[in-house]
Amino acid sequence: MTGRPCSRATCNAEAISTFTFVYADSMAVLGPLSQKAEPHSYDLCSVHAERLSAPQGWQVVRHVVLPS
Ligand SMILES: [Zn+2]
Repeated sequence: MTGRPCSRATCNAEAISTFTFVYADSMAVLGPLSQKAEPHSYDLCSVHAERLSAPQGWQVVRHVVLPS
């Protein structure tokens, strides 16, 4: 357990994945929880990772299979 919460303001669930914006490629990458917080990345719980949507024109790449 990492103890890191979801980065959504109204959510206190435990983060299970990290979402990173790669501005150079207009790509949003959802991957396993990173070891440390990084710029342009957000920790998300399973609910918010599932609901994730990228800005228009951006590609979303998922590297994790979310538990159902
Ligand atoms: Zn959340």
